[in-house]
Amino acid sequence: MAKLTVLCQFNQGCLGCCGHDFDSLEKIKEAIKRNTQEFESINQNDELELLKFRDRAQSYDLRFGVCRNLIEKNGRLFCPLHPALHQERDLRDGHCDANHLCRTAKEFANWSPDQQKQFLQFINDKHLDNIGYSLQIENNTLLKEFLTVQFGNLFTLSL
Ligand code: SF4
Repeated sequence: MAKLTVLCQFNQGCLGCCGHDFDSLEKIKEAIKRNTQEFESINQNDELELLKFRDRAQSYDLRFGVCRNLIEKNGRLFCPLHPALHQERDLRDGHCDANHLCRTAKEFANWSPDQQKQFLQFINDKHLDNIGYSLQIENNTLLKEFLTVQFGNLFTLSL
């Protein structure tokens, strides 16, 4: 998962950088379901248990392309190791590249507040579920489409 950007938790959460070479939609759902079941079986208030959960697999040992730590709660995708959930202690340290920022988020960070608002509305209008949203953030589809609508094809060529 990336540095903090509103896109990470927009549209019920993004898993775009919490894996790679994603399998089919059904397999992605299965991976998240199994991750969530494993997470729910531990004492989530115990940091050692959380670290044990994290270390039950190497970071490269993905489940159908999805990091084994990525879970879903109340329809929202997130990482239970994120510092926002642990008084700013980052339990991902040493596991994944927590400083990674995807191409879409990097571009988004450089836009004006007005352009950012338009992009969020553009996403809302698509009515994507969180996995569809994640995949289209990860492969730059939403970014390219948005820039094409705003500026024409010229701006998509550099991506
Ligand atoms: S540890 Fe958390 S932030 Fe890192 S890739 Fe896995 S789910 Fe994403």
